[in-house]
Amino acid sequence: MRIVLVGPPGAGKGTQAALLAKTLSIPHVSTGDLFRANISQGTELGKLAKSIMDEGKLVPDEVTIAMVRDRLHQQDAENGFLLDGFPRNTAQAVALDGILKDFGIALDGVLDLEVPEDEVVRRIAGRRLCRNDSAHIFHVLYNPPKTEGVCDVCGGELYQRSDDSEETVRTRLEVYHTETEPIIEYYAKQGLVTTIPALGKVDEVTERAIAALRENAND
Ligand code: AMP
Repeated sequence: MRIVLVGPPGAGKGTQAALLAKTLSIPHVSTGDLFRANISQGTELGKLAKSIMDEGKLVPDEVTIAMVRDRLHQQDAENGFLLDGFPRNTAQAVALDGILKDFGIALDGVLDLEVPEDEVVRRIAGRRLCRNDSAHIFHVLYNPPKTEGVCDVCGGELYQRSDDSEETVRTRLEVYHTETEPIIEYYAKQGLVTTIPALGKVDEVTERAIAALRENAND
């Protein structure tokens, strides 16, 4: 399956993407994770992305699209992938169509995670990530680790993303509404979008997502 996951920051895209990718046996391709890996490795791309990410703005399309093209060329993405955080604007969606056309493939579906805005802010403010694996995600209230600051899964150090500050979150939400939301309409015109409520327990949302994707694939 070739899937795009959309939703505002804090909708639980990272959590759901990791679970869905595992269930569907496809790689989870997160542009945010790819940028963060470049930042921790100190690459030129990481240096460029860091300050832009800290402001909550979008990294320029040219470098983002090139990074995704490279990633989708890797062998593990041959039989499917789950894109998380890309495309984030219409230009990127058009570029993705071009990349897939070159491969002779197409998207199977776009899953839109819907969450009320006040919930988004609560989720982001308490979010903590593991330094070893971004799929290990906790929340100080909703999903606290057994020991504060320590990942239950691997013992790694938990940290708060520097772009999860209240001010940056406001910019990220604004960017989501102005830049990213229009891609939902873009994909809806292609009959690809399924919107699901992303409230409730993590596994319930995953079950809802799998059911929606299977239904969409059978349409
Ligand atoms: P995320 O982990 O998806 O919340 O992304 C974190 C940050 O990485 C975003 O706020 C952007 O600054 C940057 N970013 C991630 N994906 C993209 C993208 N597709 N285009 C431009 N910037 C991106």
